[in-house]
Amino acid sequence: MKAVVVRPPKVGVSIEELKEPEPEPNKVKIRILNTGICGTDREIVNGKLITARPPNGRDYLILGHEAIGVVEENCCGFKKGEIVMPVNRRGCGHCLNCQIGRPDFCETGEFVEAGISGLDGFMREYYYDDPKWLVRVPYEIKDFAVMAQPLSDLEKSLEEILNVQKRVPIWTCDDGTYNCRKALVIGTGPVGTLISLLLKTYGFEVWITNRRELNDMERTIAEEVGLEFYNSANGYDGLKEKVGRFDLIFDASNAFTYIASQVLPLLNYNGILGLFGFPQSGQLSLSYAELQSLIFRSNVIVGLVNGQKPHFEMAMVHLAAWKTMWPKTVKAMITKEVPIEDEKEVKEVIMNKLPSEIKVKIVWSK
Ligand SMILES: [Zn+2]
Ligand SMILES: [Zn+2]
Repeated sequence: MKAVVVRPPKVGVSIEELKEPEPEPNKVKIRILNTGICGTDREIVNGKLITARPPNGRDYLILGHEAIGVVEENCCGFKKGEIVMPVNRRGCGHCLNCQIGRPDFCETGEFVEAGISGLDGFMREYYYDDPKWLVRVPYEIKDFAVMAQPLSDLEKSLEEILNVQKRVPIWTCDDGTYNCRKALVIGTGPVGTLISLLLKTYGFEVWITNRRELNDMERTIAEEVGLEFYNSANGYDGLKEKVGRFDLIFDASNAFTYIASQVLPLLNYNGILGLFGFPQSGQLSLSYAELQSLIFRSNVIVGLVNGQKPHFEMAMVHLAAWKTMWPKTVKAMITKEVPIEDEKEVKEVIMNKLPSEIKVKIVWSK
């Protein structure tokens, strides 16, 4: 069978013919339908992700952590023909959080991640998986359900933010939702788009920023969903004058460390700054005055990573809702589909991001 293979930390990717997987007792046989490509895959193939490693005792890793597939045979609670998405991070087997299915809070750091670190990924025609790690996909959303994996990380992020904010006696509004709260999302890429939709769903007033004007697709999304936009090419001072302070700031820019210190002065009393993604350079520095302000305003800075099975399930529910709430947006999220037979193009889209890409998917079978 075909598989997309990497040999980290070597740069490059190849499509290779591998042995069909052997049947395993009490495991579900899955035929892959689509796999998504994201920034993490590109960091791996460009030799930039230091945690990328093959399974023990091997020199290669099958790439891919965003996938949907179809169940091939009735097994262990799943019926032939059901569409499923695998959870990508799997526990270390030792710590308590991993033992209760929450390796997003692994305490040993010895967890494995399919297609990233110590476990083969999903860019292959078939594989067998433990039913414990499979999430059902509603048939109606199968064309864009691959977005549920990146969305699961943001479902977890927002859940964590709301949990942290339970420190404040009241952070909800007089209708019990968050519609009196202002959120600022930095970055309009896939992560920024997904967290903006999620915040809007929870009632937040959402501002999005980039250091350039929105492109046509981003403008369509902003108009349909009702997101406000601010061009931050000259910093954020103008935004503070125009809108005031924000209750929640979410850094989805995955870019420069200094952004965090630039936006901290925009936080309201009791506000929270969520950091998502891994900056590639720079340094975060705070003056004593900025630190005093953070303390005085009871602000929080929190690192956010990895959604687990409950978050994948929430992601399915939200994608299904958004299909009817914001149909143009959902359609715009799949930027391109490339059939696995087109090997040259598959390698190209794995190595390099397309202009104004949200999600590129590889089609393995229909
Ligand atoms: Zn990803
Ligand atoms: Zn663990």
